[in-house]
Amino acid sequence: MLGALKALHERYRVCDEGRIADYIPELAKADPDWFAIGIATVDGEVFEVGDCDQVFTIQSLSKPFTHGLALEDRGRQSVMQRVGVEPSGDSFDSIIRLDANNRPHNPMVNAGAIAVTSMIAGDSPRHRLERMLDMLGRMMGRRPTIDQAVFESERTSGHRNRAMAHLMLNFGILDRDVEEILDLYFQQCSVIVTARDMATMAATLANGGVNPKTGERALRREYIRDVLTVMHTCGMYNYAGEWAYTVGLPAKSGVSGGIIAVVPGQFGICVYSPPVDERGNSVRGIRVFEDLSRNSGMHVFETWHQHGQVLNHIEGVGNPSPALPDTTQPVGDATVHKREFELDERAAGED
Ligand code: GLN
Repeated sequence: MLGALKALHERYRVCDEGRIADYIPELAKADPDWFAIGIATVDGEVFEVGDCDQVFTIQSLSKPFTHGLALEDRGRQSVMQRVGVEPSGDSFDSIIRLDANNRPHNPMVNAGAIAVTSMIAGDSPRHRLERMLDMLGRMMGRRPTIDQAVFESERTSGHRNRAMAHLMLNFGILDRDVEEILDLYFQQCSVIVTARDMATMAATLANGGVNPKTGERALRREYIRDVLTVMHTCGMYNYAGEWAYTVGLPAKSGVSGGIIAVVPGQFGICVYSPPVDERGNSVRGIRVFEDLSRNSGMHVFETWHQHGQVLNHIEGVGNPSPALPDTTQPVGDATVHKREFELDERAAGED
C-alpha cells in the first residue's frame, strides 16, 4: 500500500501547474512543493507519504463538518429551509444564485457555509466557537487551534463574503449580527490541520461518524449520509459533475490546497498540495484522485468488484502499467468491452 502511495507521490511531484491562492494574503506564504497523501482506514490504520506533518488552514474542508453539526443542532428541515442541497454550477464564492433564489444553493459554497455556520447552537460567540472546535477535535482526534494570522487576513480581506452575508441578512437567511457570524466562519476556515488529520476526519465520515483512532463518536450517524450526499454532489464546486464522473467519491476541496474524499465504510483520503486551479481545487490533488480512482475501482458506481475490496486494489496502483486498463477500445466504429474478460478471471480468482 505504502509503495503504491509513494509511486503516486513520485508521479505527480513534478507537476508544476496551478497557482497558490493569494486572495487571502496569508495563504500566499505556502510553498508550492508541499505535497502529502494520507489514507486512514475505518480500522485505525494510517498510510502516509510526503509532507503529512505540514500544517495548513482547513479552509473549505471544514464545510461538510459544520454542516453536520448544524444538522445535529437544528435538524434537517430547519437547515433545508435556509440552505438547499442543489449543486450551483458556479464558483465557490459566487453571489449570483443567492440573489436569484433568496437561499444559498448548498452548504459547500461560501454563502451556504456562512448560513450553516450561523446555525451552530450556543449561548455566546465563545460558546459557539468552542462547540465547533469540540466537534472538529472529535473528528481529528486532537484539540484543534486557530491560525490567528490567517483569521485576521480573511477578516480584513473577506469583502465578498461580507457582501454575501449582508444579502442573506436582507433575505432573512441570517438573523443576527453579521460580523459575529463572519468571525465564526473565518475562524472555522482558519483551523490548523495536517493531511494526516484530514485523512482521519474523512475516515470518521467513512466510519459512520465514529473516529477510528479514538473510538469516540464525533457526529450522529443519521446525519453522515446527508453530509456525504452533499459532498458528492456539491463538494468540488463547479467541478463537482466532472469529479463525480471521473473520481466518483464524496469529496471536498479547500483553497489552501487540500482535498478529502470518503470511501464509505472503508477509508478516508486526503491529498494536500497548495497550487490550485481556477476553480480553487488542488491540481496535484485532482491528478492523484483521478489516478487512484481509475486504477483501484474506488468509484462508488464501479461494479467490477465487491466494494469491500478497494483497499487491496490500491496496491496495484504503483505498478508501471495500470492495474486495470481503460474499459473500452475503439475498433472501427464498434467498441470492444475488453475488460469484462479480465474481470471475470479476477472475480474467479477472488472467490
Ligand atoms: N475561507 C475561504 C473563503 O471564504 C474558503 C474558500 C475555499 O476554501 N474554497 O473564501
